[in-house]
Amino acid sequence: MEKFEVAIIGAGIVGASLFSELTRKGVKTVLLEKADDVSNGSTKANSGIVHAGYDPVPGTLKAKFNIRGSQMYPSMCSRLKVDILQCGTLVVANESGREDLNKLFERGIKNGVQGMRIVEREELHKMEPNLADNIDIALFAPTGAVISPYLVCIALCEEGVVNGGTVKLNFDVDNIKPINNEYIISAGDQSVMADFVVNCAGVGANDVNKLAGAPEYPMKYVKGEYLLLDKSQNGFVHRPIFPLPTKAGKGILATLTLHHNIMLGPTAIPCEPYDTKVDAEGISQIKEKIVQSVKQPNYKKIIKLFAGVRVVSGEDFIIEKLPDTRFYYTIGICSPGLTAAPAIAEYLVEKMIQDGLQTRNHEFVSREPYINTETMDKKQLKALIKQDARFGKIVCRCEKITEGEIIQALNSPLKPTTVDGIKRRVRPTMGRCQGGFCLPKLLKIMSSNMECPEEEITLNGQGSEILANGESK
Ligand SMILES: Cc1cc2nc3c(=O)[nH]c(=O)nc-3n(C[C@H](O)[C@H](O)[C@H](O)COP(=O)(O)OP(=O)(O)OC[C@H]3O[C@@H](n4cnc5c(N)ncnc54)[C@H](O)[C@@H]3O)c2cc1C
Repeated sequence: MEKFEVAIIGAGIVGASLFSELTRKGVKTVLLEKADDVSNGSTKANSGIVHAGYDPVPGTLKAKFNIRGSQMYPSMCSRLKVDILQCGTLVVANESGREDLNKLFERGIKNGVQGMRIVEREELHKMEPNLADNIDIALFAPTGAVISPYLVCIALCEEGVVNGGTVKLNFDVDNIKPINNEYIISAGDQSVMADFVVNCAGVGANDVNKLAGAPEYPMKYVKGEYLLLDKSQNGFVHRPIFPLPTKAGKGILATLTLHHNIMLGPTAIPCEPYDTKVDAEGISQIKEKIVQSVKQPNYKKIIKLFAGVRVVSGEDFIIEKLPDTRFYYTIGICSPGLTAAPAIAEYLVEKMIQDGLQTRNHEFVSREPYINTETMDKKQLKALIKQDARFGKIVCRCEKITEGEIIQALNSPLKPTTVDGIKRRVRPTMGRCQGGFCLPKLLKIMSSNMECPEEEITLNGQGSEILANGESK
C-alpha cells in the first residue's frame, strides 16, 4: 500500500490549494477525489470573484482568510500562469442605501481592505454606463478581482503533480482507519496510508468526518443559479456589480468572466446537497432583481443556465482538528471560500508543522500553461503551426479552439477524460453553440487520443454518455 505524509480528501479549491502548498514544501502528498476530475463541486460553479473582504464580520475566520487570500491571489495566479482580472468590485445603492454602504466601508476598514472608496453618481455612471438609472452611489474596492475558479483549481492540482504530488480520481473515500500513528484511507478496494489526513470534502465533509470519528455539524445547502450571456454582450459591465448585501447573502450580481461572457446571479435557494438544476422560479428571480442594479440585460443572448451549491454551517468557516489526532477538517466553506482557500491552506500547513509535519527544501517546478492560439500574434502562431499543423485546425468555431489545444489538454498532467474536463481546460463547447457544431469533432479527437470508442466518452462521468451505442459509426 502506498504511503504518504499527507492525504487530502476532496479536490475543490481548498484541497487543491493545500495540495499545491504541501508539494511545494516537499511533502509527499496525495489528493483523493471521488469524481473523475478535480474541481467538480462548488468550485466549478460560482461567481469567480476574489472578494476584497469588506463583507465578512470582523474577527471571524471568514474575514481573516478572505483578506489574506485576496492578497495571495495575484502572485499565486502569476506563479500558476493563469489569468486574473484586477478590475475591482462595486456595491451599488441608491441614496437611501448610503448609510448601509458607509457601514460596509467601515467594516472593510476594520478587516484591513486597502484602497476602498465611495464613488458618487457622476463618476459611477461613467465607470459603468449600464447601471440602473436609480443608482446613486457605490463602494468601490479595487482589490476585488475576477478569476476562472475551475482553471485556478486545475492549475493548482497540475502544479502539485509536477512537483511530485499524486492525484487519485474516482477515489470516493468510504473508510478511514487509524492504526498506531497512521491512517489507512480507503475507497472500495483501493487504499492509501498517510500520517496526516485533511478533510476538504465540501458538501461531503460531514460524511468524511463521520468516517474518522470527528464531530458532524449542522449543515444547510443553498443553491445559486446563474444565467450566462454570450461574448457579444462583452462590456455590459466592466467589473462585478453587487447590490447591498442582506442577511441572505451578497445578492444577485452582474459580473463578467475572463472570456468576456456576462454572468447574472446567483439565487440563494435552500436545496438538497447535490441539487444543481436550474428552475424557472430561479430564472424569474434573477430577472426581477438584476434590474435593481443594472439596465435590462439582453436575454436573447443567454447561452447557458447553471447552478452551484453552497455549504453553510453557522456563521463562520469551521477549520479544526480532532483532538489528539492528525485528522483536520474544513466544514461550511461557503463564500468567500474561493478567495480564502490559499490562506486556509497556508494556515493548515502551519498547524500540521506544529504537529510534527516535516517540510523540506524542494526545487520548485513551474506548471506549463495551456497554449491559447487566440491570444498569439500572427508570427508566433505561424511558427507554432509550422511545428504542429494541428494548431492550425479550428475545432470549436465559437471560441476558436484548435485541435492542437485540445490535444495538449488531453496530454496535460491530469489527463482529463470527459468533455467537461476538456471544456474547463481549453474551452471547446463553451461558446454560443454550446457544442452544437464542435462536439462530434471533439468526440473523435478524444476517442483517438484516449483509444476508446466514442460511445464511452461522457460529458461529466458515468451515466452521462453522449452517444447511444452505434450512433457514432
Ligand atoms: C453560487 C456560489 C457562488 C459563489 N461565489 C463565490 C465567489 O465569487 N467568491 C468566493 O470567494 N467564493 C464563492 N463561493 C464559495 C466557493 O465556491 C466555495 O467556498 C468553494 O468552492 C468551496 O471549495 P471546497 O474545496 O471547500 O469545496 P468543493 O469545491 O465542493 O470541493 C469538495 C470536493 O470534495 C469531493 N468529495 C466529497 N466527498 C468526498 C469523498 N468521500 N471522497 C473523495 N472526495 C470527496 C467533491 O467531489 C468535491 O470535488 C460561491 C459558492 C457558490 C455555490
